Amino acid sequence: MDTPKPLVTVIVPCYNEAQALPIYYAQMKQIMDKLEADCRLLLVDDGSKDETLACMKALAKQDTRVQYLSFSRNFGKEAAMLAGLTYAKGDYIAIMDADLQDPPDMVPQMLSFLLENPSYDCVATRRTDRKGEPPIRSFFARLFYRMINRISKTEIVDGARDFRLMSRRMVDAILEMGEYNRFSKGIFSWVGFRTHWLSYVNRERAAGETKWSFWKLFLYSIDGITAFSTAPLALASFLGVFCCVISFLYLMIVFIKALLFGDPVAGYPSLACIILFLGGIQLLGIGILGQYLSKTYLEVKKRPAFILQDKNVE
Ligand code: UDP
Ligand code: MG
Repeated sequence: MDTPKPLVTVIVPCYNEAQALPIYYAQMKQIMDKLEADCRLLLVDDGSKDETLACMKALAKQDTRVQYLSFSRNFGKEAAMLAGLTYAKGDYIAIMDADLQDPPDMVPQMLSFLLENPSYDCVATRRTDRKGEPPIRSFFARLFYRMINRISKTEIVDGARDFRLMSRRMVDAILEMGEYNRFSKGIFSWVGFRTHWLSYVNRERAAGETKWSFWKLFLYSIDGITAFSTAPLALASFLGVFCCVISFLYLMIVFIKALLFGDPVAGYPSLACIILFLGGIQLLGIGILGQYLSKTYLEVKKRPAFILQDKNVE
């Protein structure tokens, strides 16, 4: 008797990918046809302004394996991945980008690894380099990974992509995490389960252009830090103690100087520097508090992470 084929759903977040999507589908179709599994392709339209949704509908018409979800506006890639995970059915669930930077030909290898090694729940990918990326972006990305791994207990792997294949139980664990400010690279690691890492050389986008500006990435990195570390909150107390110690030492120096040399008049410039320094530290402390407060504020509002306007899945 044949063992039943596993059901695999591949989630693809798409924002203005009308150019890349047909190329992606053409390649992915060949992989799905060959795969020893029942496949579904769950395309998530993240409020695209171009013809992405029309393209998805056309693909769904010609191939019953293609499913789509469409957001009422752009909610971001994190929301698109969450929507995909919520609606995806199957024993194994993959996430990949629409721009072919995540090579579809790795999917069969990922699936056979999980089928042969039931003690693993995830096969994840990382790129070994950042070729084709502006050097300044790579520099700050490296800095971010070094910093967050120092201040957070959750390991965030440098170069890790969102491209991964996960078992049903891992996806269920991820869905248990009901946070609004989602930072998936941290969530994947936080839920645990054994992960097998595959490396590959970075690829250039097949078509269209990157949706992540430097500013968007900067804000995303703050999401990551506030979601997986409270160390910045301790920074304010640390700086407070530091300032107390310095000011006490300085007080002693002024006092002894006045006793020995009778020099009571300190300069105006040094006073201005001290005021600015302390003012700066206080604002920094308030700013850090503000970051955590604003994230907490968004969490307690319990707004939905995404709103659908159209779908062909239940
Ligand atoms: N994406 C999305 N919503 C957004 C931004 C991006 O769904 O607000 C999707 C995008 O369509 C692509 C994936 O996320 O499939 C990765 O985006 P992109 O290739 O622009 O990022 P990069 O590879 O440059 O980091
Ligand atoms: Mg890309």
